[in-house]
Amino acid sequence: MQATSSTQKAISLKNQQFINTEENHTAHNYHPIPVVLERGEGVFMWDVDGKRYYDFLSAYSAVNQGHCHPKIVKTLVDQAQTLTLTSRAFHNKTFSEFSEFITSYFGFDRFLPMNTGAEAVETAIKLCRKWAYQKKGIPQNTAKIIVCEGNFHGRTITIVSASTDPDARKDFGPYTPGFEVIPYNDTAALKKALEDPNVAGFLVEPIQGEAGVFVPDEGYLAECFMLCREKNVLFIADEIQTGIARTGELLAVCHEGVKPDILILGKAISGGLYPVSGVLARNEIMLCIKPGEHGSTFGGNPLGSAVAKTALEVVRDEKLADNAKALGELLRKELKAIQSSRIKLVRGKGLLNAIVIEEKDNVSAWDICIRLMENGLLAKPTHGDIIRFAPPLVITKEQLMECINIIKDTILSFDE
Ligand code: PLP
Repeated sequence: MQATSSTQKAISLKNQQFINTEENHTAHNYHPIPVVLERGEGVFMWDVDGKRYYDFLSAYSAVNQGHCHPKIVKTLVDQAQTLTLTSRAFHNKTFSEFSEFITSYFGFDRFLPMNTGAEAVETAIKLCRKWAYQKKGIPQNTAKIIVCEGNFHGRTITIVSASTDPDARKDFGPYTPGFEVIPYNDTAALKKALEDPNVAGFLVEPIQGEAGVFVPDEGYLAECFMLCREKNVLFIADEIQTGIARTGELLAVCHEGVKPDILILGKAISGGLYPVSGVLARNEIMLCIKPGEHGSTFGGNPLGSAVAKTALEVVRDEKLADNAKALGELLRKELKAIQSSRIKLVRGKGLLNAIVIEEKDNVSAWDICIRLMENGLLAKPTHGDIIRFAPPLVITKEQLMECINIIKDTILSFDE
């Protein structure tokens, strides 16, 4: 059967009015699912009509702790009434405490705080280049960083220079040099690229999230790490989307016992309340950067530091990695059991999952997401035919089963 519910039909007048206002006053750099949200709690969000939805995107894995987690909200409010921003022209007590907390939480010597994911990736690239010239002895302006096809590390000019996605790159040149692209999940390609003595780092997502949740073969990360070690090349893990318990371990690299030389974090480090990001590294690397060589006005501010500390405590205290692991297995098992030729593939790790849709009878992944929305579950297609399923990690087994039923009924309804 064809998709009967056009996008237009699915939207109430009130939702449509807000959408129109936004469309008329903002850049068109996103293509959102047509719903206007105004409240969130745990795994749920409500639209302007008061309709409740399960969140199956978690703001691209930034809301692992669930919407408006009461402990994180309390910290935010308390700190907002105390001290919010000093800049790092001065020390602030909250950042001092947070720096000790986060380095011990992840087992690194030092932390460099930023705000958004892209800024943290930029920081890691700069840090890697500094180390290349100061410690590895690579000739000035020749350091190379290896990246993977299909990567997503953010939107700055330098980062899109390392991208292979035409949408991310087109008409944004000239590009920053110094990157070499190799296929993802290909250790032979890495080995070959590492023969160049000017390679300083290998920047990789442990699972490629934005590309459509591509999970590499088991052992890939561990082997890449060993290859980098042999050539004195920094292994830089971008865990902005995969980190903070999303894949069933605190970090996705933990599945393979890898400890990156540089670890990049963002998104769920602050539970979706306030932008906090940063990089972690050992002394030898981090101390290459000296005063005045890198920074950010808001990086390390008391508000973000307090929020991130509580957000990480919640992940630990509520055992969110264990929940992601157990419920992720259940979700994939149940999705694979759905008898529909529209589902080509189910893949993922922990609660970072995707289904690949076979587009037929004019029913696309977008149409399925619109009907999921009508049925009370919010998910978003990526690259046309892939739907990511990544609920907040606080979801219970009962809630997940209800979501699986919504997904099943929705997909089967196209064949009725
Ligand atoms: N790196 C990865 C792996 C991401 O998934 C993202 C965002 O989706 C980013 C970097 C960029 O983060 P931000 O959007 O906060 O700049």
